[in-house]
Amino acid sequence: MYRSHTNGELTSEHINQEVILSGWVQKVRDKGFMIWADLRDRYGITQLIFDEERTPAVMMEDAKKLGREFVVQVKGTVIERESKNPNLPTGDIEILVKELTILNEAKTPPFTIEDETDGGEDLRMKYRYLDIRRNPVKNKLIFRHKVAMEVRNFLSTEGFIEVETPYLIKSTPEGARDFVVPSRMNGGQFYALPQSPQTFKQLLMVGGMDKYFQIVKCFRDEDLRADRQPEFTQIDCEMAFVDQEDILNIFEDLTRHLLQKINNVSVDKFPRMTYDDALRLYGNDKPDIRFGMEFGELNEVAQHKDFKVFNDAELVVGIAVPGGASYSRKEIDKLINWVKRPQVGALGMVYAKYNEDGSFKSSVDKFYGEEDLKQWAEKTKAQPGDLICVLSGDTPKVRAQLSALRMEMAERLGLRKADEFAPLWVVDFPLLEWDEETERYHAMHHPFTSPKPGQIPLLATNPAAVKANAYDLVLNGNEIGGGSIRIHDKATQAQMFDYLGFTEEEAKAQFGFLMDAFQYGAPPHGGLAFGLDRLVAILGGQETIRDFIAFPKNNSGRDVMIDAPAPIDEQQLKELHLNVVKTKE
Ligand code: ASP
Repeated sequence: MYRSHTNGELTSEHINQEVILSGWVQKVRDKGFMIWADLRDRYGITQLIFDEERTPAVMMEDAKKLGREFVVQVKGTVIERESKNPNLPTGDIEILVKELTILNEAKTPPFTIEDETDGGEDLRMKYRYLDIRRNPVKNKLIFRHKVAMEVRNFLSTEGFIEVETPYLIKSTPEGARDFVVPSRMNGGQFYALPQSPQTFKQLLMVGGMDKYFQIVKCFRDEDLRADRQPEFTQIDCEMAFVDQEDILNIFEDLTRHLLQKINNVSVDKFPRMTYDDALRLYGNDKPDIRFGMEFGELNEVAQHKDFKVFNDAELVVGIAVPGGASYSRKEIDKLINWVKRPQVGALGMVYAKYNEDGSFKSSVDKFYGEEDLKQWAEKTKAQPGDLICVLSGDTPKVRAQLSALRMEMAERLGLRKADEFAPLWVVDFPLLEWDEETERYHAMHHPFTSPKPGQIPLLATNPAAVKANAYDLVLNGNEIGGGSIRIHDKATQAQMFDYLGFTEEEAKAQFGFLMDAFQYGAPPHGGLAFGLDRLVAILGGQETIRDFIAFPKNNSGRDVMIDAPAPIDEQQLKELHLNVVKTKE
């Protein structure tokens, strides 16, 4: 028997008991005549004591050899501690060691394995198994497990069946590049790793599974913007004989269940906002609605007044920053420089102080009088004491810029509180989006998304205006998940592929199996997928997903611990019918 108890459970109730403990030595304090060691495992820390008077001399010698992260087993008696540690559940007791077995020695770890560590991110990733011994990392993995269990419990209770789908498949278009796997047995041919199980879950609906879910890895080869992972986990779901309303309701219930169980937070019915409104009011399709600062469009009141910059702009739009009227000239200049940074990209910023006494002072006083600025205040819902910040230019760009400013100001003002949760549904996404590079329309969600009933004819006349039965769940400014009602008849699906620029042969080669299936009685169906990593991070009050993944990749898609990706040897290349042509770095 390696242990009778864990290192997290002994208290004064156990005093005088004989126990066996195993774990890692976190720290040793050697006073010569007395040695203390902290013994750690997943459950906590228990203090061991060796003392000249009560411990045999040989064991005293062994204890002196103990180093950080040695794996040991001890047998001993639980005794009361002289100086208690109220911050530790086991802080009232210690173990007077009677037998010490060193199970494994350890090299001095490259960083301190304690809650506060001296190890930088890179070092900790290289030795991730050591990092996982630390509470901050370990607790996040346990937290993730709890969330995943709640998801499984909820969906299973609702009648969902978890079905595994294959990883070695063909391309599923979700808007990223595929990771491909060469086939040894079929020379020159490749599998693609799923960007999502999209087509398979739809086939499960044709197969009559009715309510499917899977906590599943998805693989997307995309340029890694901050905090993305090339492999990530989805809670992937699909249902048959449902409309959009049914889906929103059930996954709203799931989210509410998680907030209740994990965070002890009750949330009322989630607001629903159209995609168009989200862009108009917040400048993006994943608005953080924990705070106001809604956009006020000013074209009507700010154009045609001699101020050329505004007159020439497609959109003039502002937000009211609470309390900003008191900013000094220097502070405002700094803010203007902030919006001009290349990451934000504004050409400049016009501002108007709405002073506490009701007067206005703006950077464009030459063109706008008190009455004009009053109208700006109305449109941006500014209060006395606020600073109205106004940007202008092409609509999509200006919206993105002002949205960045809104989030930045909220961050600075402490309005993005980690323990506050404001979920909402964004609905009525456009079916298509224009791609500048290829100069054509692409499916905004994916090509299996159904246009809203009756909108198909619009495809011919005004494609950008076609809306889809597609929706996203947004939580605190993050897209948690999204999905859609699917096309379920062959003719519409074929039409959609055609519209998206697939030739009939291409569509057949890539998705023939799905269109075939649609000929054998496909039920109306729809679904969605939540990003588990992000969901867990947000419920855990953090914004980075990396800590909640046991073995994450870095920003260049590398696993620095196992050093992957890596070259493979000649023999393996040959078996796979591959030749590597080195291109210039
Ligand atoms: N497959 C989609 C995605 O991964 C979600 C869905 O439509 O269910 O984004």
